[in-house]
Amino acid sequence: MQKVYELAIIGAGPAGIATAVESYLHGMRDIVLLEKDQNHNATIRKYYKDNKRVDKDWKGQEVDLDGRIYFVDGTKESTLDFFDALLDQHCLELKTQTEVQNVEKIKEGLFHVYISGEVLYAKNVIVTIGRMGKPNKPSYKIPPSIKKKVAFTLDGSEIDEKILVVGGGDSAVEYAVDLSGKNDVSICYRRESFHRCNPTNQTNINYAIMHHQVRPILATQIDGLEEEDGKVKVLFYEKEPELFDRVVYAIGGTTPSGFLHSSGIKEENGKPVHDANYQTNIKGIFVAGDITQESGGSIALGLNHGYAIASYLKKRK
Ligand SMILES: Cc1cc2nc3c(=O)[nH]c(=O)nc-3n(C[C@H](O)[C@H](O)[C@H](O)COP(=O)(O)OP(=O)(O)OC[C@H]3O[C@@H](n4cnc5c(N)ncnc54)[C@H](O)[C@@H]3O)c2cc1C
Repeated sequence: MQKVYELAIIGAGPAGIATAVESYLHGMRDIVLLEKDQNHNATIRKYYKDNKRVDKDWKGQEVDLDGRIYFVDGTKESTLDFFDALLDQHCLELKTQTEVQNVEKIKEGLFHVYISGEVLYAKNVIVTIGRMGKPNKPSYKIPPSIKKKVAFTLDGSEIDEKILVVGGGDSAVEYAVDLSGKNDVSICYRRESFHRCNPTNQTNINYAIMHHQVRPILATQIDGLEEEDGKVKVLFYEKEPELFDRVVYAIGGTTPSGFLHSSGIKEENGKPVHDANYQTNIKGIFVAGDITQESGGSIALGLNHGYAIASYLKKRK
């Protein structure tokens, strides 16, 4: 007999773990978390630099936590430890290296969850796969010869490089300030100021600019990239081209439309359609976390979504 899970959660980031923990605390058992990476929280592991400060009120959005997960400011490492402990304390089943292809409703209250070569059965499915599986890429082509010098995370960055960070949000600013300790860093942003950042990051970037640790290239857009002498030649609309050792884009992520479409989940304006309980057009399939936000959410928002879904499922029983 094939086991039927009460809840199959796709993606073990903050929103997925919160949905699992809050459901567990509401008395639900037979919960499985399916994570495509080697460990939970792939976004935090890949995109956060080591020792990064983790703000509860990310991007300046103040969020009151609704549920029973007490999340506070910390670092990348303390945040990962925090989620490790949550998983351990609630004896949740986490299947790693398990990429879900799509979900299919078989009948009322029964779903097939397709993993390569395997099918899981679940009564409810929560899709919390975030938006960073596919980071936003520039519209212009990146020549193959410089692909190793163009990145979307800090992986591969070395010391004493001339680096251009592209973007003006919190992630871009944090990358630029961090890299400036050991590199010659410029930041290119199409607007004139970093007003989208939270106050701490605005202070940090303004300080770094004032002390010539980061060179701002503001109100400027990039027209394309070329290779020259093994370096990245950046072509700007508003100024002369310039050579860099490395270009790092921090311009957010994209909606996983392929997954949504193949599972029959409707999408509108770059987001899956859902009701106030985060239930999609398919009864029994819910969405939570960054996937519900057009331009990225936060850990605290994901935790609240998880609590809302768990509470709704309890009430519905
Ligand atoms: C550089 C950077 C810095 C940030 N700093 C902060 C901060 O300081 N504070 C803050 O609150 N927020 C911060 N954020 C935002 C925060 O990381 C996100 O809002 C949060 O991680 C979203 O949680 P999530 O669970 O929705 O998605 P994610 O954290 O993206 O998790 C999704 C998970 O799903 C997995 N997955 C994807 N597809 C599949 C599939 N098909 N099958 C199985 N698993 C799958 C992924 O591997 C991943 O582990 C930052 C983001 C970035 C990029």
